Amino acid sequence: MNPGTPEFALIDRHFTRATRRADVVLGVGDDGALLQPPAGSWLVLTTDTMVCGTHFLPTDDPEALGHKLVAVNLSDLAAMGADPAWLTLALTLPEIDHDWLAAFASGLFGLADAVGAELVGGDVTRGPLTLTLQAAGTVPAGMALRRDGARPGDGVYVSGTLGDAALALALRLAGATVPAPLAARLDRPSARLALGRALRGQASAAIDVSDGLLADLGHLCARSGVGAEIDLPRLPRSEAFLAAARGELDGDKPLNGGDDYELCFTLPAGQADAVSALIQAGGCPITHIGQISAAPGVRCRDAAGRLIAPSREGFDHFTTERPT
Ligand SMILES: [Mg+2]
Repeated sequence: MNPGTPEFALIDRHFTRATRRADVVLGVGDDGALLQPPAGSWLVLTTDTMVCGTHFLPTDDPEALGHKLVAVNLSDLAAMGADPAWLTLALTLPEIDHDWLAAFASGLFGLADAVGAELVGGDVTRGPLTLTLQAAGTVPAGMALRRDGARPGDGVYVSGTLGDAALALALRLAGATVPAPLAARLDRPSARLALGRALRGQASAAIDVSDGLLADLGHLCARSGVGAEIDLPRLPRSEAFLAAARGELDGDKPLNGGDDYELCFTLPAGQADAVSALIQAGGCPITHIGQISAAPGVRCRDAAGRLIAPSREGFDHFTTERPT
């Protein structure tokens, strides 16, 4: 991209700011950023794309979209136990709308600043509205959380509450009033960074719940070569969820709903006592929902202790149409 082009002016106007982090040697404005990771750390890289019509609606609040684009990437860093550090942004825009861009940038920088992450580069192209962010974080060498360490007998835990965002989306699509606490979970999610840090050296495996607990716990089990049994009545649901849920229609949302951005993790049986310290350090509730088993697959037990077949396996981008 060359100075004098509309794209350059756009980046200059909305996305170029004074450097904030001491480890940014050179930020936005060159061919690449120069960064100095701390000695003794591993770099954690992750990226997420939000496509208009697939992940959000053209009418969605751009400030909330900026926030959410950062939050979904931070959630992946949290699931690795990483401290967020640097971001790069790739924007594909059908047109240059400065009001939209100002609001989007405000949401993006609002959350980035709150967690101490700095935007250090990016790219702008013309095309269907697509938002891509890459987030880089650091973790002390050898201390990253991974999906592949769960062992039979480990406890399965989840942070916060499940199903709030999926219920908010369902209510919104049905034209119903969405209670504010549920709308906030969908539009302005937060990542469990403090819990991710606290889980270093504690959790045997971890994943963030973005596509539904059943699907994401299934990914963790597959990577670890194990299975899991979870007790459905134990799945944590918020008061707002319980008040607004419409019976059977919403019954599976804590299990299959997307966009929760909670952490699901496993603790070796001997470390179950760590939970109260993790609640303190993570600043969120933690619920024991089941156990890791040697038999593969995720099985669910109902209130009577009977194994039941889950109705569907979360949101899969290539087999399921997501309502938008
Ligand atoms: Mg993830």
